[in-house]
Amino acid sequence: MARYRGSVCRLCRRENLKLFLKGDRCYSDKCAFERRSYPPGQHGQRRGGKYSDYRLQLREKQKVKRIYGVLEKQFRGYYRRAERQKGITGTNLLLLLERRLDNVVYRMGFASSRNQARQLVRHNHFLVNGKKVNIPSYLVKPGDVVEVREKSRKVPPIMEAMETVVRRGIPNWIEVDKEKFRGVFKALPSREELTMPIQEQLIVELYSK
Ligand code: SF4
Repeated sequence: MARYRGSVCRLCRRENLKLFLKGDRCYSDKCAFERRSYPPGQHGQRRGGKYSDYRLQLREKQKVKRIYGVLEKQFRGYYRRAERQKGITGTNLLLLLERRLDNVVYRMGFASSRNQARQLVRHNHFLVNGKKVNIPSYLVKPGDVVEVREKSRKVPPIMEAMETVVRRGIPNWIEVDKEKFRGVFKALPSREELTMPIQEQLIVELYSK
């Protein structure tokens, strides 16, 4: 599947927000957004003015896709599914994205970024409820146990991520036992617990046109 292969720091600058796509570097003074917090490109510093509603909606969708590393077709699929569920479509959408296995691995601190988590999942380093799962989009359910496979516990990116996770912390809806290389997705988070500045209603407006 085609993926964005350019500089991920450009994406943060484009969205005018730190998206935390580069692991530990995002917390250091090497962060490109900290140094140049204006849009990329020749005219980046000159852009400004009022955004149309459509542009705001489009940017919000792009931002969320980039945070979770999901491509358009798959993202639209999540939206359709969120729409069919009971409750608020925008919140349902964010909860579906939060349940992705690559995101859960990242949240548990077994990877430094969602992108790295996606690669580690694909390379068979994790078990879900004791069974091997290598599909990054696998949807984890409340109560599911995600575990680093025994033979993968010395894989350098996993070890490094586990050491540095303290910088961002582990969210309340997840419990991790570092000694056992295992975490539990205890419950779905509430909307208030998802603290990234996302206005999901704008995405709903975009797709409802
Ligand atoms: Fe974004 Fe991280 Fe790059 Fe900073 S270092 S611009 S937060 S991806």
